[in-house]
Amino acid sequence: MSLSNDNDPKAVGRGSAGRRPSSPPIQLATVHACRTTSEADYLLEEPGRGYVYQRDGHPNADDLARSCAELHGGEEASITSSGMAALASVVLAHLTQGDHVVASEQLYGKTFSLLESEGARFGIECTRTDINDLETFRSAFRPNTKLVVIETISNPQLRVAQIDALARISREAGALLLVDNTFATPAVCQPLTLGADLVMESLTKLMNGHGDVTLGCVVGAAAVMSRMHDVVTTWGLGADPFSCWLAGRGLKTLSLRVEQANRTALQVAEFLDSQAAVTQVDFPGLVSHPDHDLAKRILRETTLDARNSASLFGNMVTFRLAGGEQSADRLFASTDIPFFPSLGDTSTSFSHPVSTSHRRIAPEMRQRLGIDGGTVRLSVGIESSEWVIQALGKGLVALDD
Ligand SMILES: *Cc1c(COP(=O)(O)O)cnc(C)c1O
Repeated sequence: MSLSNDNDPKAVGRGSAGRRPSSPPIQLATVHACRTTSEADYLLEEPGRGYVYQRDGHPNADDLARSCAELHGGEEASITSSGMAALASVVLAHLTQGDHVVASEQLYGKTFSLLESEGARFGIECTRTDINDLETFRSAFRPNTKLVVIETISNPQLRVAQIDALARISREAGALLLVDNTFATPAVCQPLTLGADLVMESLTKLMNGHGDVTLGCVVGAAAVMSRMHDVVTTWGLGADPFSCWLAGRGLKTLSLRVEQANRTALQVAEFLDSQAAVTQVDFPGLVSHPDHDLAKRILRETTLDARNSASLFGNMVTFRLAGGEQSADRLFASTDIPFFPSLGDTSTSFSHPVSTSHRRIAPEMRQRLGIDGGTVRLSVGIESSEWVIQALGKGLVALDD
């Protein structure tokens, strides 16, 4: 068989032009040259015509945005410098003075700070409500409600949101529903397919999954995302190329990491539930969890092993130690599992809501959430389930000493 000239292996030379690299280049340039004044004028006229200035858009952010949009089945995505910047961009794009927000009473602490303290400075009002009770939720709306903010899986009780029903009620009231899907990721839940208008994630957590990037994303239909580019570039909320490249690499293993961690989390929850030192376990995969049946509807099944399909219930497990804060400290000191006030890394880690995420929550609310000094939150990683259970067992044994 003779090769045509195009296929002559010696004809390709030493460059790589036109040949596909196994990994996209990282493009750190802050600016791309314009060849003529009319070209500059054309490129700057509207977004998407070509890269000029990094804050207005760069290839690594666009690659990552395409991946996030695809994972969620959404038309458009924006990448931001953090999860908080993602929330800020939605608020800035969709709210104005005199608007009202309905927020779940179980949200990330800084989300409340943004919607309530910062929001109030711009004349935006916010009402917290119990989203697991649809009548209570409905009664929180006002004629000027423009935005609803909920989380797919809440922290630390791991309550699951009835996204489809909440989306219907929000739409009837003329408000947009934003779902913070950080604890689930699109490997476990795709809120847009359940009727949400916008979904955001802190890519810092499970999406990147390797504990080395701070980023956020927002995904939605083109019409809902139309002001996003202007807001992100004008307020300077965009992301840097290297972080985007790293997160793109992390996303390649998202479903593998998430499904492994979710399977282990179920085994870990069952193990903890059988321990004398543990008085309560909150995990949507346990039949004792108030949202167990709902979780099976809202959260996806694993797609890795079609013969053994099983529901995914997330990688987070919250449990309460009988001995309070002292026991929590003792547990942390007696295992190889680190205490990181974050989540979603490849390695399993503990957090302690009362001293970290829920430091500023009023005592009555802590009581309603069922958390005290003995409440420990576990972010299950991708180690073997045997390793995680053994590490936890070692720590729990130390509580008896
Ligand atoms: C971490 C987190 C955020 C904020 O994300 P950053 O990337 O830290 O800004 C928002 N929501 C939830 C649920 C989070 O866990």
